[in-house]
Amino acid sequence: MVVFKFGGTSVQDAPAMEQVFKICSKHLSGGLVLVSSAMAGVTNQLVALTDAIQKDQRVLADSILKALENQHKTVIGHIPQQARNQALEGISAVFSDIRTLVKGSFLLGECSARVADAIWASGELLSTAILHALSQGLGFQSKLLDARKLIVTDENFGSANVIWDLTSQAILNQIAPKNPSLWIVQGFIGSTVQGVTTTLGRGGSDYSASILGACLNAQRIEIWTDVDGIMTTDPRKVPSAQTIPELTYAEAAELAFFGAKVVHPATIQPAVESGIPVWVKNTKRPELPGTLVTSSAQGTGLRAIAGRKGVMMMTVTSSRMLMAYGFLKRIFSIFDHFKTSVDLVATSEVSVSVTINETHDVKALLQALEELGSVRVENSVAIVSLVGQGLWKQETFLERAFQALRGIPVLLVSMGSSEINLSMVVREQDLDKAVEKVHAEFFTPTGDNLVHP
Ligand code: ADP
Ligand code: ASP
Ligand code: MG
Repeated sequence: MVVFKFGGTSVQDAPAMEQVFKICSKHLSGGLVLVSSAMAGVTNQLVALTDAIQKDQRVLADSILKALENQHKTVIGHIPQQARNQALEGISAVFSDIRTLVKGSFLLGECSARVADAIWASGELLSTAILHALSQGLGFQSKLLDARKLIVTDENFGSANVIWDLTSQAILNQIAPKNPSLWIVQGFIGSTVQGVTTTLGRGGSDYSASILGACLNAQRIEIWTDVDGIMTTDPRKVPSAQTIPELTYAEAAELAFFGAKVVHPATIQPAVESGIPVWVKNTKRPELPGTLVTSSAQGTGLRAIAGRKGVMMMTVTSSRMLMAYGFLKRIFSIFDHFKTSVDLVATSEVSVSVTINETHDVKALLQALEELGSVRVENSVAIVSLVGQGLWKQETFLERAFQALRGIPVLLVSMGSSEINLSMVVREQDLDKAVEKVHAEFFTPTGDNLVHP
């Protein structure tokens, strides 16, 4: 059994969908679970739709819905004739549900997190309805599954947490390994024990694939996307980025967490726990080897550089900290109380600096921190992360990293406790330049970290 996940661009139009089945057709022998995202751009439009409902913008909501319907109908118009009716029936049922939800929300004058999740989940229901019809038109013996009957979550709408025992039971009940077989299932979505639709967080289809892979004890999980694998940095920002042939789970998780969007940060954990190898490959260039993520990946030194925007840095300074114990505990219990997760930390004798995600509402948190000392906040900062095993064994590593950043103010430095990560906080407007400079230092043809695919 293998689990293949295809991202938005991999299912963005009819030729892309046909390419998906070309890839799958070679790997059906032991059973294949095909996990699909919504077509490219669709989830963003569904988010725009729920925003429009919240702002009572009926005309805008209507035009978004019409555009989405046209987008899906255009794709159906380009798939083989024999698959079109089934595809149209599939998407009409989904659009009818969305319209009911939208109408109800406008009547009530609100769009709760629960309704938003039901609307956002439509993207994957639409893409898989078309994929399923297409697969049958192409002659595959495929079965369309509903991820809401497989992935059981809590009620944390928008970023629901998996209830593992129920999920595993449901998956094992419904996906029995048969030779050869093709199951098609939506990424990104699940449902509560009561059957209320939930989503796993943006980019969450990778996570869905990993959940299915772990529960099925799959031979491997393959994340099919629009780049050649996990690369030394985002190739859209730095075109000279190179594909990394192998990475450890820890390196991949660290990169994902610190902004390498190519895999969702939650993807790796289920795979690690079950020891399942994860491949990242390019749908348009399946002949390329891609990146293999395992526990035993070879290679030391700097592997890749990630960048993450939308970060806020807070520094609490208090002379009461001097020689006193228990101060850190008090600071962190405040973050705990406000359920705010801290990413980077640096301490001195009288101050503590931390970074958090900028999306948090921090008013009450700041008030509580101010009782401990003076608080300085830097908005709109970013994190540059340098990731790799044994970074510290390279004598010149730090010197070269900081040389590369000459001229760019560094606001905080933190060596990740995993010892495979050096992270630095810079201003948001300096992030792209910082990543580019560090990349040029280590990965140009003269840099000794050149990756040989
Ligand atoms: P999908 O829709 O297939 O899930 P995503 O857009 O979520 O694809 O992720 C792929 C994108 O991740 C790439 O197009 C690339 O711009 C970005 N990316 C960021 N960092 C990296 C990296 N280190 N290696 C490869 N891609 C990266
Ligand atoms: N469609 C969802 C999103 O755009 C999930 C995914 O593509 O992974 O966030
Ligand atoms: Mg993605």
